[in-house]
Amino acid sequence: MHLKHVLLACVWLFCSLHAGSQPAEKKYTYVHPQMGTTFKITFYSRLDSISSQAIATEIFSKIDSLNLLFSDYLPESELNRLCNQAGNLNWINISSDLWNILDLSNYFTQASSGAFDVSLGAITRLWRKARAMKELPDSTLISNALRSTGHTCVQLNAKQQARIIQAGTRLDLGGIAQGYTADLCLKILRSKGIRRALIDAGGDIAIGDPPPYSSGWLIYFPSCSKDRADHLDSLRLSNCGITTSGATTRYLEVNNIKYSHIIDPRTGWALTENYLVTVQAPNATIADAWATAFNVLGPLGWESIQEEHPELNVWIIKGNY
Ligand code: AMP
Ligand code: MG
Repeated sequence: MHLKHVLLACVWLFCSLHAGSQPAEKKYTYVHPQMGTTFKITFYSRLDSISSQAIATEIFSKIDSLNLLFSDYLPESELNRLCNQAGNLNWINISSDLWNILDLSNYFTQASSGAFDVSLGAITRLWRKARAMKELPDSTLISNALRSTGHTCVQLNAKQQARIIQAGTRLDLGGIAQGYTADLCLKILRSKGIRRALIDAGGDIAIGDPPPYSSGWLIYFPSCSKDRADHLDSLRLSNCGITTSGATTRYLEVNNIKYSHIIDPRTGWALTENYLVTVQAPNATIADAWATAFNVLGPLGWESIQEEHPELNVWIIKGNY
């Protein structure tokens, strides 16, 4: 054998041994309570458990920092500091994440003809209190609060600034913040080369590449399926977002009527015609916002705009849940 051939054989042997020694992809799962829910992060990686834990810790601190921007509970959140300036026409510099989520919110408000509305904060506060007291809110307070809402009240400019033109307006990002945050977590994982991942922010789910040897992540969601006792359907999904929204846990029940945590922006009253809406979309932000909006719009609302939104798959069932 020529020396050249011997050398080539050695290189080949080294390469194949090296490839064979790559560790198998391992599944890692981490949970973190935040934003009134629990974030569950699952991904596959060849990293060891210490490096994977470090990535999870980095993602969780990003979630915590987004909560400091988006929360309407924390008096000092960036969102609340902006709302404290409502009525002041000066432009205020805001973070890129707050600007982005407000810009997206304005888009969903317009696309849903006002059904999705983050300016309902003054009203969602009244309903939160009502749920805690287990009694309906005062209707005069609701009509007064309704005056401080309106989807045109959050203005943004290209200098990453915002202003709220109407005094008294409070913002509530609860209908979109979890989906937006889940998408950002997935983005961080992808930037580190981890693509087989799923982020579940309490039902707002951002999905990356499928698990190894699989066509997608198995997702169960409520449907009208008569074949199953639990009325669940399932899909294998990858590279998209999916959300289910409805009055399953957060609602007020008075005189056998269930008042949802989702508000009809036209009246300020909590929805009583309760649906379970599942939306599959290109990402979790889109799925989250539309799932809230279709609770307000109902099946007829979805039917009327369906053709404009080929990017969405929507399942709406009337809830007796
Ligand atoms: P979700 O669980 O994603 O459907 O969001 C519901 C949350 O969004 C509520 O708890 C409120 O904080 C907020 N919200 C209520 N009604 C609306 C609405 N019509 N548009 C946008 N956000 C809303
Ligand atoms: Mg939502």
